[in-house]
Amino acid sequence: MSVYISTICFVAIIANHKGKSTDISPSTVLLSFGLAIQSLYNFFRFGWSLFEGAIDDFMRAGTVHQLAFVSTLLMIILIFFSVTWMLTGRLVATLHDSAIKDELTQLYNRRALEELIPTEVARAQRHDQPLSILLLDIDHFKQVNDTYGHQVGDKVLRATGRILRLHTRRNDLSFRYGGEEFMVLLPNTDVEKALIVAEKLREEIENSRILPSKKDHCTASFGITQLYDEDWQSAVERADNALYSAKTNGRNQVVAGRHPSP
Ligand code: GH3
Ligand code: MG
Ligand code: MG
Repeated sequence: MSVYISTICFVAIIANHKGKSTDISPSTVLLSFGLAIQSLYNFFRFGWSLFEGAIDDFMRAGTVHQLAFVSTLLMIILIFFSVTWMLTGRLVATLHDSAIKDELTQLYNRRALEELIPTEVARAQRHDQPLSILLLDIDHFKQVNDTYGHQVGDKVLRATGRILRLHTRRNDLSFRYGGEEFMVLLPNTDVEKALIVAEKLREEIENSRILPSKKDHCTASFGITQLYDEDWQSAVERADNALYSAKTNGRNQVVAGRHPSP
């Protein structure tokens, strides 16, 4: 029985450490600690029993066996605390996630943008690396809603979110900026490279065949720029002006907004 309990606790420690990586580590350590005490003590108890005579009355067994109750009690208390701690941590993480993520597209929302842009700008300046901003807006989206209905409109937004997640790097940050407008922050990327990324995304959206009619396809216009020695709001404004030019030049294209005196 002691070997069985010892093994089960040992397996539980391994399972605990292979669990959700988002769990706060002190709670994981506390849980493993409780299980380790139980596992080691029962292993010791097993060894002790081998050199001990047969126990006639379990209730009158020696101190080593009586202490097994104490170690079990300790394990139960530690499991209770660590699991409560773990569940609270997961709940807080879920709440934080839903506060900064857009439910429809699963991209970061506008609130997250306000938080993350200054951090990214500071990081780029600290490492003296370029940072590019990409704005995109779905073309004639009102017409998509009017022709196919809001459900299809939402499907287009979800598909655009998926394209942005799949076709950008892990360090890039994609946001739903407004209704059918998105922003991508490209760390360590100058405007020339951002142009290549935007062109790839534009093609992916154009070829995605989201709309029910084979003849119609969804497109998006892009305005991109690089952040120079300026506040990020000025760079976003320049990207927005470039996006406006992409719209007026005929849509489904990428326009780069270059700094007047880089
Ligand atoms: P343009 O090519 O100039 O960008 O034209 P547009 O029709 O895309 O732009 P406009 O700003 O006229 O229309 C945007 C539409 O996006 C209007 C609004 O009803 C729709 N919209 C905004 N948010 C959502 C949403 O969450 N779901 C759906 N289905 N539609 C949305
Ligand atoms: Mg639009
Ligand atoms: Mg728009």
